[in-house]
Amino acid sequence: MKVVIAGGGWSGCAAALSARKQGAEVVLLERTDMLLGTGLVGGIMRNNGRFTATEELRAMGSGELFDLTDRNSLHRDVEFPGHHHASLYNVAKMEPMVKDALLAKGVEILCQARMTDVDMKESRIAAVSGKQADEPFRVEGDVFIDTTGTAGPPANCNKYGNGCVMCVLRCHSFGGRVSLAAKAGVKEMLGRRGDSFGAMSGSCKLLKESLAPEILETLNKKGVVVVALPESKILKGKLALKCCQQYALPEFERNVVLLDTGHAKLMTPFFPLDALREIPGFENARYEDPYAGGKGNSIRYLGMSPRDDSLKVEGVENLFCAGEKAGLLVGHTEAVCTGTLAGYNAVRHVRREKPLVLPDTLAVGDAVTFVREQMGTEEGMSLKYTFSGSVFFERMQARGLYTTDVGAAEERVGKAGLAGVFAGK
Ligand SMILES: Cc1cc2nc3c(=O)[nH]c(=O)nc-3n(C[C@H](O)[C@H](O)[C@H](O)COP(=O)(O)OP(=O)(O)OC[C@H]3O[C@@H](n4cnc5c(N)ncnc54)[C@H](O)[C@@H]3O)c2cc1C
Repeated sequence: MKVVIAGGGWSGCAAALSARKQGAEVVLLERTDMLLGTGLVGGIMRNNGRFTATEELRAMGSGELFDLTDRNSLHRDVEFPGHHHASLYNVAKMEPMVKDALLAKGVEILCQARMTDVDMKESRIAAVSGKQADEPFRVEGDVFIDTTGTAGPPANCNKYGNGCVMCVLRCHSFGGRVSLAAKAGVKEMLGRRGDSFGAMSGSCKLLKESLAPEILETLNKKGVVVVALPESKILKGKLALKCCQQYALPEFERNVVLLDTGHAKLMTPFFPLDALREIPGFENARYEDPYAGGKGNSIRYLGMSPRDDSLKVEGVENLFCAGEKAGLLVGHTEAVCTGTLAGYNAVRHVRREKPLVLPDTLAVGDAVTFVREQMGTEEGMSLKYTFSGSVFFERMQARGLYTTDVGAAEERVGKAGLAGVFAGK
């Protein structure tokens, strides 16, 4: 039984681990030279409802990746505007930790392996192919998972954003994103933003060394720095651009909010460098990601797959999806949850077993279903969904699903009959 996964972001890594734990041979293809995709520059975990989703997944037997992010957290229980009990992982150290964990589990990882084509047999995928560095590869499989994300490629950043800003995805070096589902003939969906499409990534990173010593000291000590902007320096209108609606609060427009993820994570899509350098303490500011963070950020949410609640892609018999590919879901936690479910169901599919659909008594199950339903409406296509804020966190609270009580999350998973369901071997 062979599971082939295209895309080594958080969702692809979780899918690989999950399928492997169910006994499958797993090949994970990643276009660049590192796993984690946009997770290479993220870092915020456990904020608001993400805490609950994390604990639900742990109770379901799939806590390994969260154990790694917890272990690699520079700060825990951080409070910043609109957000509680956040953990911040060290972005510089996360990728090798995840890669080692997957290799130790026996996942075969092919880096610099960009999938560009599929061989179809009627409505089934037989193999995927492309180039690993300069050498052609072809990998056959019984079932496939598309976790190629929705970021870029540069043509999209040009058309729907402010051009390529040289983000960590490094499309010019490794080739841009190619969607497995689209290659298999699936008509994908585009997130909306007013009259346009997609959304701009909502944060960027400054080199810590480029900050004033007093700002750096507080950042290192507390994990968060909030600097009020003088009225004349407030750049209005950027909130509407953001992928991350959980951070589209006025506080993020009126202040410079920095979080310590190893670098100084600046909680705004971009900030013109000249204007930033006029703020006391930021006179020498320099961008670490994207390199042109003074100009813009990557564009995401172009190319999502129609899918059911087991995360099977519609129209292709043996294709599943997860992470941003599975809908307008923002975040590492969201990618790990959906990746775990997709990896599990991919194996059940090969075994001809009924797929698992998580119930809406769990925050994770409710998110999978709610996002699919919302994506059937015009308004729903212009929103983003995350456990950590905005519409879905409000829904979690209204439905009594938000809790920071680990025992309560375990009990709810137990009541659903799903304790340890993903544990495998
Ligand atoms: C700047 C920024 C900051 C963020 N900060 C946070 C944060 O602090 N906390 C948080 O929870 N979320 C954050 N997010 C959002 C979060 O990173 C994503 O929503 C989530 O990690 C998406 O995971 P994914 O696996 O679906 O996709 P991606 O991370 O996009 O991964 C997709 C992977 O597929 C690979 N790929 C694409 N095409 C191919 C192909 N043809 N063949 C092989 N490989 C391919 C890509 O190289 C990439 O590695 C941030 C996002 C950005 C851009």
